[in-house]
Amino acid sequence: MIPVVALVGRPNVGKSTLFNRLTRTRDALVADYPGLTRDRKYGRAHLSGYEFIVVDTGGIDGTEEGIETRMAEQSLAAIEEADVVLFLTDARAGLTAADQVIAEHLRRRQKTTFVVANKVDGIDADSACAEFWALGLGEVYQMAASQGRGVTNMIEYALAPYAEAMGLTRDTDEEAPEDEREYTEEEAEAEQKRLQDLPIKLAIIGKPNVGKSTLTNRILGEERVVVYDEPGTTRDSIYIPLERDGQEYVIIDTAGVRRRSKVHETVEKFSVIKTLKAVEDANVVLLIVDAREGIAEQDLGLLGFALNAGRALVIAVNKWDGIDQEVKDRVKSELDRRLGFIDFARIHFISALHGTGVGHLFESVQEAYESATRRVSTSMLTRIMQMAQDDHQPPLVNGRRVKLKYAHAGGYNPPIVVIHGNQVKKLPDSYKRFMMNYFRRSLKVMGTPIQVRFQEGG
Ligand code: GDP
Ligand code: GDP
Repeated sequence: MIPVVALVGRPNVGKSTLFNRLTRTRDALVADYPGLTRDRKYGRAHLSGYEFIVVDTGGIDGTEEGIETRMAEQSLAAIEEADVVLFLTDARAGLTAADQVIAEHLRRRQKTTFVVANKVDGIDADSACAEFWALGLGEVYQMAASQGRGVTNMIEYALAPYAEAMGLTRDTDEEAPEDEREYTEEEAEAEQKRLQDLPIKLAIIGKPNVGKSTLTNRILGEERVVVYDEPGTTRDSIYIPLERDGQEYVIIDTAGVRRRSKVHETVEKFSVIKTLKAVEDANVVLLIVDAREGIAEQDLGLLGFALNAGRALVIAVNKWDGIDQEVKDRVKSELDRRLGFIDFARIHFISALHGTGVGHLFESVQEAYESATRRVSTSMLTRIMQMAQDDHQPPLVNGRRVKLKYAHAGGYNPPIVVIHGNQVKKLPDSYKRFMMNYFRRSLKVMGTPIQVRFQEGG
């Protein structure tokens, strides 16, 4: 499971500066989708091969009143859900009473905490940092987030316990190894057969009250639940195995339907972190939006995260019952306007309450999964690349024609195509996009983003 790193500290110590630095590279994909604002609190980071969820908890200074207390509560909840806390302090401002209050809280929660003295640029770092030892949380790490100094070291150190699980060894600058296995036609077919027997992990996500529980209950009510899993902890989703039309699924239930009904708990609080973890762990994400509320910022935030994670995606517009045509038209034009840029995802209009349209959802889920995991032989990928090249020659770069040599698979879910050739790094984005769309059409990829990467030589 992907680790969650929470950035904690009083206001102005540099949390959002660090957050931006950690999430920037990974936002490349989201940046390709204009109109998709990214969440300034939750991000997906990729550094030194480590992938993690990073949460900016906002400022807590220990003296909150009123609405501030509620914000502080949210920050505290984020701390509860985090695996690792980076506790930022300001090396220039020195130790403050608020730092002490936060430290006391972290000590009580017994969270894995790393004290970071930020803004050490241009000052005598060692002497400035010495006083933070008094926080009683062990070693003090020096950082200058705005310069990027100490950031990689900090992450490598804090996440070292996860290195093995992520297939990494420490002190490496390389990306995590990907499934770059090349297939012949026969191997691709055999692998495809094997994949058909694996369950599809389907995360049902959406902001509170969109109908996640209603839909999950409807799905479970219609179908035979194969096995009940063991009870999870409150911070994690419930995994429910399910068989439907001969296909096995594991529903990742972020709404906590089963737990709620069984333990008579009150409605669980929606948790963004829980949702993000579910996205990470899923093959396919089913994003539910509420027809009566239209597309909200929070919907776009969850969508951005799913896109950034490269997950296969199906969108369900729920509560399509009992609304008049005028509202339906309005919702549809809003979908066009705000979600028109994700042309790969199927959109369904459903009523979880009445069960309308629910069956068809699974057709799209299956299609998205198949597109996302389909094995394609090297020769087929190279053929498609060649056809694209014949259709539309790569442009000249420095007076010389860029030459594409061959293509092979570089990963799945999302599917990645790696193209080798000369001077390919210099290809303009427009050509790269053309290539991506050509592969999408030729392979009939539906329901998942697809990536085309270019590698020098071959
Ligand atoms: P937050 O309130 O904790 O999110 O703090 P911000 O990230 O907004 O940073 C507060 C101020 O500190 C901004 O003006 C940043 O530019 C500045 N800052 C952040 N990191 C550093 C650093 O490493 N060195 C210096 N000199 N300034 C920094
Ligand atoms: P969750 O927080 O996403 O799990 O949302 P719930 O499943 O608890 O649903 C929130 C509210 O919306 C409940 O009152 C449901 O009865 C209602 N609801 C859910 N699905 C539908 C639907 O398809 N149509 C209508 N009209 N109401 C629905």
